Amino acid sequence: MKLVLASNNTKKLKELGEILTPLGWELIPQAQLGVPETDEPHCTFVENALEKARHASRLTGLPALADDSGLCVEAFGGAPGVQSARYAQTTADDPKSDARNNAKLLAELGERTDRRAHFVAVIVFVRHADDPQPIIAEGEWHGEILAAERGMDGFGYDPLFYIRELDQTSAELSAEEKNRRSHRGQALARLVERLQTRR
Ligand code: IMP
Repeated sequence: MKLVLASNNTKKLKELGEILTPLGWELIPQAQLGVPETDEPHCTFVENALEKARHASRLTGLPALADDSGLCVEAFGGAPGVQSARYAQTTADDPKSDARNNAKLLAELGERTDRRAHFVAVIVFVRHADDPQPIIAEGEWHGEILAAERGMDGFGYDPLFYIRELDQTSAELSAEEKNRRSHRGQALARLVERLQTRR
């Protein structure tokens, strides 16, 4: 069955495709169907993911999958949260930059001793744009923010996200290890379970 992915991120397409294709889903990125990106105006991950999924489904007539994710820092009451990708942006025209986001995070945390943080991912599946019963799957990954970057892999805040039991940052993990542990990996596993058991 065809499914539109409300994202043009090729890494996400590959990761999701590897899991969903064997289950009989053909994943099509929204840009291939002429769907423009929609705004993410809400202050929760779940609302933004739902907005993106409904938008893609409405414009294509297909079932849709969308995700929203970010980093929540305990000392900041959960910020940057849904603003994670745009944390260091000062104007809407400012390009997104992982390096500037990480520098800002370190500056704002300063010498604080409470450096706990967690990644959140929410994945939403709708059968159609007005689906009253979307499948919503969530994952969380807890760690701490280091005082300096470590590791070369991953993206975003990975070089600062330290997992104490491994003594590694998420930028030091292999892609397989990260997928097994991460917020996105957990959300995806839950989504697949729900898709397979839905009546
Ligand atoms: P989006 O869900 O692709 O919009 O990602 C939101 C932002 O959250 C990203 O641009 C990153 O800054 C951050 N983020 C989400 N997941 C991860 C991750 O696995 N590692 C590092 N940063 C992440």
